[in-house]
Amino acid sequence: MAGEFGILHLSSGDILRAERKDKTALGLQAQEYMDRGALVPDDLILTMMVDRIQRPEASRGFLLDGFPRTVVQAEALDARLSAQGKKIDVVIDIDVDDAEVTRRLTGRWYCPTDGQVYHEMYNPPALAGTCNACKGPLVRRKDDEPAVVQQRLRTYHEATEPLEKYYQARGILKPVNGIGSMDAVSAAIRKACGR
Ligand code: AMP
Repeated sequence: MAGEFGILHLSSGDILRAERKDKTALGLQAQEYMDRGALVPDDLILTMMVDRIQRPEASRGFLLDGFPRTVVQAEALDARLSAQGKKIDVVIDIDVDDAEVTRRLTGRWYCPTDGQVYHEMYNPPALAGTCNACKGPLVRRKDDEPAVVQQRLRTYHEATEPLEKYYQARGILKPVNGIGSMDAVSAAIRKACGR
């Protein structure tokens, strides 16, 4: 969708996973939090994301994915953007119940070579456990294991759900029903963005 809109996609989870792969100081610090389904401390995330938002690649706009995840992060982001004369236009609140989130995450597999993402039920590879593109073996994210998913859901309800009220109060929250086909949910998100 970011490609379609001509803006930069900034996924905090993807950036952290890349930092881990490269064994940077940030990646090593983040690892332990991620593997147990906890949030990485706000100061580390803020430095990482604010740096990227200020880069020239982000000058035409950006789609933030997985960030902010706490009210502290949202407030710091707003302060930083307003200092640059920028603001968040729209916040998409994708509504999916915990049982479906659990099915989506625990059934997700990816290819460590080319990053292709599959799902056992919703987007299965042609040959079970094998990447369609490179034929390599698929793996599961450690934090998609059932026990960690339950912890991530608790973390979400406690630390991230309060952001609904935060953005509702600012008049930019757009609720979208996340139950349905990928095409239907994508269409609802486009509509919420006024496209
Ligand atoms: P995700 O790929 O968005 O599910 O993120 C994977 C993990 O990275 C999360 O469970 C957290 O441990 C960490 N993470 C990603 N984004 C944030 C954030 N904005 N604040 C704190 N931790 C984050």
